[in-house]
Amino acid sequence: MSQNLVTEEKVYEELKKAIVETLRVEEGSVTPESSLINDLGAESLDFLDINYRLEQSFGIKMARHFVLEHIEELFGEGSAIDEDGRLTGKAIELLKIRFGDSMADLEAGMDMDEIPAMVTVRSMADGVMDILASLPESCPKCGNSSWKSDDGSKVTCGSCRESATYTNGDDLIKAWLNKVQQEKNIF
Ligand SMILES: [Zn+2]
Repeated sequence: MSQNLVTEEKVYEELKKAIVETLRVEEGSVTPESSLINDLGAESLDFLDINYRLEQSFGIKMARHFVLEHIEELFGEGSAIDEDGRLTGKAIELLKIRFGDSMADLEAGMDMDEIPAMVTVRSMADGVMDILASLPESCPKCGNSSWKSDDGSKVTCGSCRESATYTNGDDLIKAWLNKVQQEKNIF
């Protein structure tokens, strides 16, 4: 895995740029702990815009659906959100494993509408880094292991110049959910 081609620093730099351009906020007001909705005034369409900019910067595909939607799809309707729109204990258990401290206020019974406000700059950066970590060991086109990056954000094959292809964000979430389910048997 060629992890250090794109650094965490670069991810934050590009994410900040995307947020500043989309939300027209001061760069200084964007910190890792900022909630995009509560602190930076993002609305749901803004997330599409920010995701699009990140996809252009890094050559990745961000997840279109949040973890909760994937839980419902994989483990059945009602598994993550009950009929009153409240999060189940099992959903909270999973979200805590996934987001840990970056979503500290999670508790069973909370309204699902509260979740988007918990998305922080840090949780978005983590999502980008998860995707970047899916870079295969060797180039699928020529088989050589010579990834490189000229600008620190786009990765290409040093042998055949093919652009790196990463697993898309939704597939990564599904694979992660299946793995956690196998290990912990939550559902
Ligand atoms: Zn190649």
